[in-house]
Amino acid sequence: MAHVTSFRRRVRIRVEGVVQGVGYRPFVYAQATELRLAGHVGNDTRGVFVEIEGDPAAVDTLVARLSTHAPPLARVDRVTTHDLPPDGESSFTIVASSAPGERGVLIAPDAATCADCRRELADPADRRHGYPFINCTNCGPRFTIVISTPYDRPRTTMAGFALCPACGGEYADPADRRFHAQPVCCPACGPHLALLDGSGRPLAGDPLAAAAGRLKQGGIVAIKGLGGYHLAVDAGNDDAVSRLRDRKHREERPFALMVADLPAVSALAEVSATEAALLTDVARPIVLLRRRAGAALAASIAPQSPELGVMLPYTPLHVLLCDAVRTPLVMTSGNVSDEPIAYRDDDALRRLAGLADAFLVSDRPIHTRVDDSVARVVGGRPVLLRRSRGYVPRPVTVPWAFPRHVLACGSELKNTFCVGKGNNAFVSHHIGDLENYETLQAYTDGISLFADLFDIRPEVIAHDLHPEYLSTKYALEVPGDLVGVQHHHAHIVSCLADNGVDGPVIGVAFDGLGWGLDDTLWGGEFLVATRQSFERAAHLATVPMPGGAAAVRQPWRMAAAHLQAAYGLDIPDLAVATRQGRRWADVLQLAAAGVNAPLTSSMGRLFDAVAALVGVRDAVTFEGQAAIELERLVEPAETGSYPVDVTDGVPRQVQGADLIRGVVRDLAAGVEAPVVAARFHNAVASLVVDVCARVRADYGINVVALSGGVFQNVVLLQQCMAGLSAAGFEVLTHSDVPPNDGGISLGQAVVAAARS
Ligand code: ZN
Ligand code: ZN
Ligand code: FE
Repeated sequence: MAHVTSFRRRVRIRVEGVVQGVGYRPFVYAQATELRLAGHVGNDTRGVFVEIEGDPAAVDTLVARLSTHAPPLARVDRVTTHDLPPDGESSFTIVASSAPGERGVLIAPDAATCADCRRELADPADRRHGYPFINCTNCGPRFTIVISTPYDRPRTTMAGFALCPACGGEYADPADRRFHAQPVCCPACGPHLALLDGSGRPLAGDPLAAAAGRLKQGGIVAIKGLGGYHLAVDAGNDDAVSRLRDRKHREERPFALMVADLPAVSALAEVSATEAALLTDVARPIVLLRRRAGAALAASIAPQSPELGVMLPYTPLHVLLCDAVRTPLVMTSGNVSDEPIAYRDDDALRRLAGLADAFLVSDRPIHTRVDDSVARVVGGRPVLLRRSRGYVPRPVTVPWAFPRHVLACGSELKNTFCVGKGNNAFVSHHIGDLENYETLQAYTDGISLFADLFDIRPEVIAHDLHPEYLSTKYALEVPGDLVGVQHHHAHIVSCLADNGVDGPVIGVAFDGLGWGLDDTLWGGEFLVATRQSFERAAHLATVPMPGGAAAVRQPWRMAAAHLQAAYGLDIPDLAVATRQGRRWADVLQLAAAGVNAPLTSSMGRLFDAVAALVGVRDAVTFEGQAAIELERLVEPAETGSYPVDVTDGVPRQVQGADLIRGVVRDLAAGVEAPVVAARFHNAVASLVVDVCARVRADYGINVVALSGGVFQNVVLLQQCMAGLSAAGFEVLTHSDVPPNDGGISLGQAVVAAARS
């Protein structure tokens, strides 16, 4: 044997990343046997280990393939090799793990039904033909069904379903596509559907066909999905969609659609190659697309919006349902207005009782409520606006290791939290606005789950500086070293982390509101920032926010404040003042007296003010609505602008007064609203370039990071990127993490690590 082994090579390989529960060991097994290599593969706490022995060229080939190939749901972060003396092993085996899927390894996100499963689903000869819970190692539920670790069937919501002999055989066979797929099941041993009427009584007949029948007749059906309940109606039926809108008390926010396939999406909206790739990604986010004129859809789906939010089916149930109804479906979250989405059956039946005509339910429990993710393509690059189902809990890998375990508690609105360990920042699913008991419960449950899944015992607790945020109050109760992180600093550092770029940068953080260091509310900020610290280099000059929170709901109050800042007591006669009548004068008086009128430098509130002046709307039903509508108005061909005065000092002050006077002069002269909206956007983009150029002259920094909710405005974002690039700046924007407050927790975690 000595003669033979001298021509053999043996290597130990370690593979790290998302490599468990995704069919990685069978993949290695198949590659190794194809190359006639001996050895073994197994899971341990760090990922997958492989030992291979055989022909040196074949060994090299396998090592190379592990770096370039992987099963669809795997994400390989690192492959390292180490030479060993050959020991004459003659076959290749998958070795049992000491504890399958041990703590500390990465759990995969939920994944859309794969092509193989879809083929079986449609094949009358397959034993899972038409079975709405078909899945395999390459697809199916993951994060939404995990209860605790190690990740193994007894610790998922599939625990109550004992494998039948046929499924058990597939589960145990290394050559099978269902080897160690924890949620594997079939009609004989897995979950089943039921259709219930509006009061929860079972209805006769095939549940799926009956649900499809009701949808075609204009019924509203609550459908249990992967991470919670949707409310579905036929998107072509205006009566049905209007009825759903009434019942949900959701006046104007657009409804998302589920459409069978790409050609059907193309019939409704324009789809670029990048958008098609995003729609068909295994994460299956809702993608915001430009709607086609004349798309055959109910008018009430997205009133006044040139966009549609569309997703493709991502569970076998959705595939079967879309096949059965053959029309686009509204698939909106199963809740009433701002409540969290229902995901437990009893809760759904109670809360959605007045909304749904029927319930399509199943006996597979959802452990964690996870909302649909939302994305769009800007300048050829995907940007996540809500990072949740399909993406979570995949970590954001950062180039700076966390020296101690960190818990970052996140923001108040669009909350996510983040736990940091090693080079991984685990940003949570979208928790929502921390304003009610259910959401707070989801928040604390989520933190416990993440601590368990990733074996994290936080020593450093990062939080926002706003004393009234529930996330701040939570942080103060948790044992650990507290690190307060300023809101806009967190925005900018989340953008650095999203790009893996180290500071210092010029951070432009534009959003609604965030607690500042001087007890005013910031939101129009230019920060010279590193991961550790920042200086406030410039900001929008402050104005009062008359009535505090009321000024967020009623943009006309911000118009009053900005007009007073621009004109003093001689405010010109404007429609917005006339419409508001007596309230207008009262509000200005209170603001002048400083009564309930916190000072703010917010850019989001300046957008609100201009939207109210232009006549877009005086009041909003959701945050950012006025600004979104102002953006839609923009006349793209208009190149005019308004002057903006920047006063020197530390920090510099960006005066909005000239800009406001320009808007008023135009409106008085009868200039059309789309032109005024365009000139306003042009003015903001050019002030960004102007201020960044001054800061560059002071600090010698040539990199600009754009973050904050205002940069969800695509017109503004693209103008800023173009203007800054033309001025020679390198520009960083968001991609994997939202620019809005959903990204705050990541920034907090990275800042806390840098400081501790
Ligand atoms: Zn599959
Ligand atoms: Zn079975
Ligand atoms: Fe913010």
